[in-house]
Amino acid sequence: MKIIAVGRNYIDHAKELNNPVPETPVIFMKPDTALLKDNKDFYYPDFSTDIHYEVEVVLRICKEGKHVSPKFATTYYDAVGLGVDFTARDIQQQHKEKGLPWELAKSFDSSAVISSLIPITDFENPDQIAFSLQKNGNIVQEGNTRDLIFSYGQLIVFISQYITLRKGDFIYTGTPAGVGPIAIGDHLEGFIGQQSMFTCAIK
Ligand code: MG
Repeated sequence: MKIIAVGRNYIDHAKELNNPVPETPVIFMKPDTALLKDNKDFYYPDFSTDIHYEVEVVLRICKEGKHVSPKFATTYYDAVGLGVDFTARDIQQQHKEKGLPWELAKSFDSSAVISSLIPITDFENPDQIAFSLQKNGNIVQEGNTRDLIFSYGQLIVFISQYITLRKGDFIYTGTPAGVGPIAIGDHLEGFIGQQSMFTCAIK
């Protein structure tokens, strides 16, 4: 499986990092070794001193798709989870300044927290999912997927022009405002609505 992630997909987050609001989706990838499942601990890596959390709604792809048409795009995912796109902001900033790719800032081991998944059919309106992240019991990020710049369907149409989607792939749909640093000893907990989706201790 592969993890496809979307950068700058909420206007308020693009602005907080002084990035322009994109005209087409900003896409990057993480390898399967980035996944951090089952509420496992995150071990702060030696190569960064500025790892940030980014809480994101995650789509699970349910069938192979290439050049998916807009009409059928919403049939390509069957479940939603909540994840964290851990980002080494210091490395990302250095690479952005040099115009280099973001991989080392984004794709390191355990950089993709994933929760258990909820079938898409369980949502009254999957395009309006409220989600939040707590750090040490305080809400640090709150979002709602109705504010996505590029919708689930638009992302699937766009990505599948370039990259074949396969069953089991994840799409991290982007983070709202409020990203910030983690430190050893912190405790993260992600919520969809009032439902706790994952916990993650920083070690
Ligand atoms: Mg992100």
